[in-house]
Amino acid sequence: MKRINILDPETVRLIAAGEVTENPACVVKELLENSLDAGATRITAEIKNGGIKMIKVSDNGHGIYRDDVKDAFSRHATSKIKSKEEIENINSLGFRGEALASISAVSKTEIVTKSNSEMIGTKITVTGGEFGEISDAGRFIGTDVCVKNLFFNTPARMKFLKKETTEGNKVASVIDKLALSHPEVSFKFIRDGKLCLFSPGDGKISSAVYSVYGKEFLDGTMPLKGSLGKMKITGLVSKPENCRPSKNLQIFFINGRLIKSKLISTALEEAFKNSVMVGKSPYCVIYLSIPANLIDVNVHPAKTEVRFADEKAVSELVFSTVKNCLVNKNKKDFEKYIPSSKKQESNFYFEDGANAVQSFENPGVINLFGLQSLFKTSSNKNEKISLTGKTNLFMNKSLRENFKVVGEVFGCYLILECKNELIFVDKHAAHERIIFEKMKKSSSEYSSQMLLNPVTVTLEKQEYCAVIENLNLFSKSGYEIEDFGSGTVVVRSAPMYEDLDDLANSVIEIANCILDNKKSNETKKLEWIYQNIACRSAIKAKSKTSVEELVKLVNDISEKPELRHCPHGRPIYIKFDKNFIAKRFGRI
Ligand code: ADP
Ligand code: MG
Repeated sequence: MKRINILDPETVRLIAAGEVTENPACVVKELLENSLDAGATRITAEIKNGGIKMIKVSDNGHGIYRDDVKDAFSRHATSKIKSKEEIENINSLGFRGEALASISAVSKTEIVTKSNSEMIGTKITVTGGEFGEISDAGRFIGTDVCVKNLFFNTPARMKFLKKETTEGNKVASVIDKLALSHPEVSFKFIRDGKLCLFSPGDGKISSAVYSVYGKEFLDGTMPLKGSLGKMKITGLVSKPENCRPSKNLQIFFINGRLIKSKLISTALEEAFKNSVMVGKSPYCVIYLSIPANLIDVNVHPAKTEVRFADEKAVSELVFSTVKNCLVNKNKKDFEKYIPSSKKQESNFYFEDGANAVQSFENPGVINLFGLQSLFKTSSNKNEKISLTGKTNLFMNKSLRENFKVVGEVFGCYLILECKNELIFVDKHAAHERIIFEKMKKSSSEYSSQMLLNPVTVTLEKQEYCAVIENLNLFSKSGYEIEDFGSGTVVVRSAPMYEDLDDLANSVIEIANCILDNKKSNETKKLEWIYQNIACRSAIKAKSKTSVEELVKLVNDISEKPELRHCPHGRPIYIKFDKNFIAKRFGRI
């Protein structure tokens, strides 16, 4: 019996279409890349209902000859390469000749185009892969591609689409990246009749970045520039103090193509090592120019990954350029800090990336830079010594009877003597758990604080989408957040326990948590948010804690002996029995 069927052309077309056409964002990406490849300097993208109802991309590129129009919709039909040899040297964004064929197989696609050498434009509609009649159309040089009713003939694929807002935000994210990829091209994005993005196309990276991510994002960056052999790098990278708790805004372009690269991201993070706090990452818009024969872009159908002929060189270029940029910034910061008459110190460059400057006046003092601020911490010895004496004043009665506060060690642990036990308390873990419990108990109305100055947060579009779609969840945790449009939100109130200096980072982290845990229920998400806030606002290990705060902590934990672990599961305290200690000393 025969089991293997040769599929009919229509089924083949639909299967192939699925490979590149996953959602409206993929369609927009392909159409915009075609416009860029056609040398356009002005591109307008318009979508309706998240792009599901309509996507229209118009450009002033070189257009398509009438004789070529039908071929443009055939599979593996491209004007960008002729033979296999040329695959080695690709300079265009497209080359597979698949996009228009795939898109028109699963939608109603209309193209209106006019080339330089033709008097009149051409119009054709392709519905589910079936060509309509070619007709004349009036148009200046360039091309409009209008895609309607995406997936009308593939209900299974339609089912996988997310809400219109989600799909629309994915489109916005793609347009952001393409506008950044070509600062010399002016991009306009209209979403349901509203202008959401306009980049001037003046060739300046800063103009494109300003249009896409706004002033705050731009102000938080520093420019970088470097080269190694024939490879060049330019762009903007965040200052260490503006790093984010997510890698979502590490944007890399190679030869004008957006790519994902673990290699580049690692080199960037390596350069920032010791300049940023643990858990924070730099954000950037980095442009690499690498000779086409030294990279392979034919690795991934969506062309988002590339292979490098010399990985080490790419890594070195990114690392050393970013590192230099950081070193120069530190030098400048130092010059700002020290009056010019004192700038005769000798410079040291440490392995770990921090710059040190030995003080000229007092050679014994070394000021460390490379961290966010200058530390000259005074250890308040008097306070430490008098800890035991002072504490009794603040202790509640039961505590006074049962506990003796011995002191604090390593800036991290409190030592208590309690009847026959010696107790080590991790001050951060204990405080974290106490805040967490309080947040869980009180409803958001009581635990929210109104901000005197609302805080604006710039988000990557997926993060933005997560925030906008979960405003209710934020409000339950005490945040009042307003949509400010185009990737920005304004925070008007924050949870009572929130560390306000870190508010923007909290919102970004929560957005990423929502994205990573889409399937969790609301209670789980809320718990995670409480944990995050508690962890941020709890007193930190190694930080200075006042005696009052420490005693308050002892009071709180003594009242709740059932709390044994911090929200992450680490123990709050460890106990040593008197007998155990005595045994170790050989007393019993
Ligand atoms: P590819 O971009 O890989 O060549 P596509 O299916 O995206 O494949 O496009 C097929 C061809 O149609 C392109 O090679 C190009 O010649 C032409 N084309 C598509 N869009 C445009 C446009 N906006 N302007 C000019 N030519 C275009
Ligand atoms: Mg293409």
